[in-house]
Parts: sequence; C-alpha cells; structure tokens
Amino acid sequence: MTAVRTQVGIVGAGPAGLTLARLLEREGIESVVLEDRSRDYVEHRIRAGVLEQRTVDLLSEAGVGERLAREGIVHHGINLQFEGERHRIPLNELTDGRGIVIYGQTEVVKDLIAARLASALPLLFDVTDVRVEAIDTDRPTIRFVDDGGEQELACDVIAGCDGYHGICRPSIPDGVLSSFSREYPFGWLGILAAVAPSSDEVVYTHHERGFALLSLRSPELSRLYLQCAPDEDLDEWPDERVWAELQRRLALDGWTLDEGPILEKGVAGIRSFVVEPMQYGRLYLAGDAAHIVPATGAKGLNLAIADVHVLAEALGHWYRTRSTALLDAYSDTCLRRAWRAEHFSWWMTSMLHRLPDADPFDLKLQISQLRYVVGSQAAATSLAENYVGLDRV
Ligand SMILES: Cc1cc2nc3c(=O)[nH]c(=O)nc-3n(C[C@H](O)[C@H](O)[C@H](O)COP(=O)(O)OP(=O)(O)OC[C@H]3O[C@@H](n4cnc5c(N)ncnc54)[C@H](O)[C@@H]3O)c2cc1C
Repeated sequence: MTAVRTQVGIVGAGPAGLTLARLLEREGIESVVLEDRSRDYVEHRIRAGVLEQRTVDLLSEAGVGERLAREGIVHHGINLQFEGERHRIPLNELTDGRGIVIYGQTEVVKDLIAARLASALPLLFDVTDVRVEAIDTDRPTIRFVDDGGEQELACDVIAGCDGYHGICRPSIPDGVLSSFSREYPFGWLGILAAVAPSSDEVVYTHHERGFALLSLRSPELSRLYLQCAPDEDLDEWPDERVWAELQRRLALDGWTLDEGPILEKGVAGIRSFVVEPMQYGRLYLAGDAAHIVPATGAKGLNLAIADVHVLAEALGHWYRTRSTALLDAYSDTCLRRAWRAEHFSWWMTSMLHRLPDADPFDLKLQISQLRYVVGSQAAATSLAENYVGLDRV
C-alpha cells in the first residue's frame, strides 16, 4: 500500500469537485481529486447547460472562463408557452440587466480538467473501491485502488463531491443526517440534436400532452426534453416518435421546430432531495451529494458550484487563521441557497408539468398561475430573479 498526504481530499471530478480543486489551488491549498470514471466519460456526460451570472463570474475569477466568455451564449429572456401562446419573460429588464449563459456542463468540466492538468496537480481517473474513513477524527483518510494497487490518502479534510450515488454521504453514520425528498410521478426524456436551435431563447411549454422544453447547447446543437414516465422505456421512442411528440407539444402558429439527427437520448428522473447538515466531522458534502433539484429550475450545476465556493473560502480562512467559524457555518450557509433553489425548482415543476392524476381543478390553478406570471410584473420579477440567481438568500 502507498500512503500519501494532502490537505483536502476531493471525491468526485464533476463540476463541484473540479471547481473546488481550482479554487483551492488559487488559495494555495493542496488537494487530490479522485474520480471513479474515465476522463472521457466525465467530459462527455450530457447534463446541465444554464449558468447563472454568478457562476460565470466565479469561473472567470478562477481563471477558467476564457472559452466560456468566447463560446457561452448570453440569454436575456426565457419563454413560457401555454394555451397555444408564447410569452417572453425579459430577465434582464426585470433584474437590473442580468441574464443567464448557455454553456454545457460538459464544456465547464473540460475547461476545469484542462486547467488542473496544466497546473500538473493530482487528478486521478478510473480509481476504484473508494472509501472514506476516520471522518470524525482530525486525520480523515481516503482509501482507493488504482493501477498501483491499494492507496491511502491522509487528509485534513475530505470534500464529498461524488454526486447523488456517491459513497461519501452513505459513509456518515446512521442518525446524523435528516433527509427531505419528493418524488415526482414523471421523468424527462432528453435529446441532444445536431440542428440549430429553433428559438433564440429557451421555451418552457405547458401542454395537455405534458411538459416540453426547447433549449440549446450551442448555435449548432439543440437540447430538447419531453415529460415522460419516470421509467420510460427508450426503446419505445425511435427518433421519429420523439420529434413528432416535440412537434405536437411545442407547436405555435407561425413558428417551426427544425429537426436534425439525434446525437444522444436519455431518460432522467425528476426528484427533490436535501440532507441536513451537509457536514459530519471532517467530511463536507457539496453539490448533488447533498441535494438534488428537479431540472426545471436549471439550478443543479449552479448550486454545486455555489457550495464549493463557500467551502473554498471557509477552508482558506481556516488555513490562514485556524478559525473554524466559516467551516462551522458551511452547512447553514449552503442550505439557505439550496432550499431557495429547491422551492423555485419545485414551483416551476408544479406549474409546468401535467400530473398523471391531475383533476380539472389542478389544471385551472396551473393556467391561472401561468397567466399571473406572464401578466404581472411582480410575479414575472419573482421568477426572473430566481432564474438568474439570487445574490442573497
Ligand atoms: C441525467 C441528468 C441530467 C441533468 N440535467 C440538468 C439540466 O438540464 N440542468 C441542470 O441545472 N441540472 C441538470 N442536472 C443536474 C446537474 O447536472 C448536477 O446538479 C451537477 O452535475 C452536480 O454536480 P456535482 O459535481 O455535484 O455532481 P456530479 O456531476 O454527479 O459529479 C460527481 C462525480 O463524482 C463521481 N463519483 C461518484 N461516485 C464516486 C466514487 N465512489 N469515487 C469517485 N468518484 C465518484 C462521478 O462519476 C462524478 O464524476 C442533470 C443531472 C442528471 C443526472
């Protein structure tokens, strides 16, 4: 067995783990990042694509915003479509000029990996059998296996950035964490298509056949979603059927949805989940390891990056001053933002999806809410400020 020491051991090379590693590097704090998938896999895992301005600003300040500034597509509005009409919510007018930036999670991850490798700092892919131990002591340890066999990484602190299915959260003893969750009786069937987006801005659609979303990843790549069953069988969805259903749900007089080759197709669950606290001993959970939001609010990636921003500052403060004040506040600080995002994502989800057992009363409420949001400046501002991301929560 080989034993190595570092200051911060990071489990997971998703957006949370890689951003944390970069922020720690800027603070002069050592870290080792461990990832159980291959570099190719994590760089091509199609997921989120909507960045809040504060996420963009943080990545730029961390020195990984150059390509993002060049290729990211700034959006100043989003559209809500219902009862055959499309209504624009002018995000920038309602939020003092703020907007969102469309830039795929795959691209964020590629930029962060490139920066880590350029700094010649440890980032290990394809490790197996990762375990965190002694997390309630001041010498927590990560054990794992790589090409060289069994390894031991002694740390000051461990960051559990290993997503919803990772090993860090389950390593916390029973009875410590409280979990809060909501399952929704639907999922999203998502496609990535090689066709120029048919709308310059994202379109969220409430339709009698179910929710649909038209989004994009670049001027040449469209990303589209359909509400489906949580366990929808993809074999039942040949490309022609996907496009036909999208055409039905997104249809609008005088507008055409352009079709193209489907490059990727998948079904994702829609779920709300939070654990409290986000810390136990010297193990700090960040991102999807601690909370999941339905993708309707476009918050998952932004929340993950917000968590590690708080964590990096708290660790920097601790190493500089030995004061644990910010580390002690880590969980509460992050949970305030996480719960705001949970509420907003639940609210958007509830307003836009067709519940399988919805009665006419539910439907009338949804339509009334949508009319209010597009008709009232106060209601539209509430949506807009949450969508672009609140500075204070
Ligand atoms: C299918 C899907 C689609 C999504 N679409 C959207 C969207 O459209 N909009 C949006 O805002 N959000 C979306 N999300 C959510 C968003 O992508 C996540 O919130 C974001 O990836 C969170 O980043 P993270 O770093 O916390 O976790 P992850 O991205 O999950 O990264 C965790 C990393 O840890 C690694 N790992 C796991 N276990 C171990 C282990 N034992 N040892 C070492 N490494 C491990 C994983 O391989 C992964 O690389 C989607 C999520 C999914 C699953």
